Amino acid sequence: TLPKPRQPELKTALPGPNTAAIMERDRQHLSTSYMRPYPFVPERGEGVWLTDVDGNTMLDFFAGIAVSTTGHAHPHVVKGVQEQVAKFTHVCLTDYPQEITTSLAERLVKHVEKPGEKWRVFFSNSGAEAVEAAVKLARNHTGRSHIISTMGSFHGRTYGAITLTGSKTKYKRGFGPLLPAVSHVPYPNPFRPPLGSTPETCGQAVLEHIESLFVGILPADEVAAIIVEPMQGEGGYIVPPADFLPGLRALCDKHGIMLIFDEVQAGMGRTGKMFSFQHFDVQPDIITSAKGIASGMPLGALLAKDSVMTWPVGSHGSTYGGNPVAAAASHATLDLLEGVVKHPGCGDNLMQNAHEVGEYIMAELKGMQAEFPFLGDVRGRGLFIGLEFVTPDGRPDGALRDRASMAMFEKGLLNLDCGEAVIRISPPLILTKEEAKTGLEIMRETLRELK
Ligand code: PMP
Repeated sequence: TLPKPRQPELKTALPGPNTAAIMERDRQHLSTSYMRPYPFVPERGEGVWLTDVDGNTMLDFFAGIAVSTTGHAHPHVVKGVQEQVAKFTHVCLTDYPQEITTSLAERLVKHVEKPGEKWRVFFSNSGAEAVEAAVKLARNHTGRSHIISTMGSFHGRTYGAITLTGSKTKYKRGFGPLLPAVSHVPYPNPFRPPLGSTPETCGQAVLEHIESLFVGILPADEVAAIIVEPMQGEGGYIVPPADFLPGLRALCDKHGIMLIFDEVQAGMGRTGKMFSFQHFDVQPDIITSAKGIASGMPLGALLAKDSVMTWPVGSHGSTYGGNPVAAAASHATLDLLEGVVKHPGCGDNLMQNAHEVGEYIMAELKGMQAEFPFLGDVRGRGLFIGLEFVTPDGRPDGALRDRASMAMFEKGLLNLDCGEAVIRISPPLILTKEEAKTGLEIMRETLRELK
């Protein structure tokens, strides 16, 4: 058991002189593709707190886009990384096995294997690369080419991944031609049901829509895979109805299609289970993971059933994928997720903590909906929570969300938008109720000002 990190005082006179100077240098020399929602330049972190180059401390409710599972500079992760760096930093997993990655693969598959199943792992450096690998594997295994993805989805910034991505045209404009043989179908969002359906029927409506494509538009026997986020991240932190993913499984089985679950954002304990699909009675063929898998060290993983991982030896690879230092960070992260090492104040393990603190935050936010009618929807699982802002007639209110987000920053809460009008709550999984309360107070104060 590790010592409890101190709770610092929030101090947010932003941006200070050092921040302003670095922001200016950044503007001169870094790509304009970076977005910079708020002038914050971190210098160091501890737990769920980040301190900037002017000494201001912020509470981290976004975790570097759902990445910093164990918070910042977790002593157990630091120790694992330091020990591995001192041994060797790279040899290339494509050519030589290394025990630290072999044991990591063994550990990861234990979280998905059902009795009688065997799974294997391919390691990459990022989520997009895991997605690319998944598409290549599905095509190679089935001998088919077409991929079905969902609207509102996000799968990364490489060519295959932007093609699959179903949100924001800016990700695609001016970059084409994209990958051929990709279609998009609606995502069953119970708050905004597609295809004229209701919150209860939206899952079935999407399944029927896919089947209707197979009748007149797209031969099912040319479809290699359907890729879906079991809980949609960038699209707005959306939880589909319970019958959707099992229905998709049945549809894929019927037509010999591979089912790929993109767990890059919602996976690795964030929703209170190791993978978000495990809230439903369903098993995919292929899983992509990254982000939270190594607490911020660059690592991605493709997990596939042994019977599916049939690509020939050497047909896919990566120089850095499965880097041993990243693997060490991942082992340490799993230690805390599984409860092999306990984090003070976080119960048996970080998944349990994510579940409990997430329930607490959801209940508090749902309570606020009565006071603030512009909080149209509060949804999620564990520490994967979306807060949707709406106009009086129920449309997404992106402008109000942006004002709320900025006001929260100014009060010391690092947060991030997603979807059209959603603030996502995706803090480190070590967040305690006490720390959550600090964040909720900032949110409540902000919402009162907006009223
Ligand atoms: N898939 C999902 C579901 C994601 O949320 C993201 C990143 N936001 C990616 C893939 C791409 O991951 P990366 O940025 O590591 O390439």
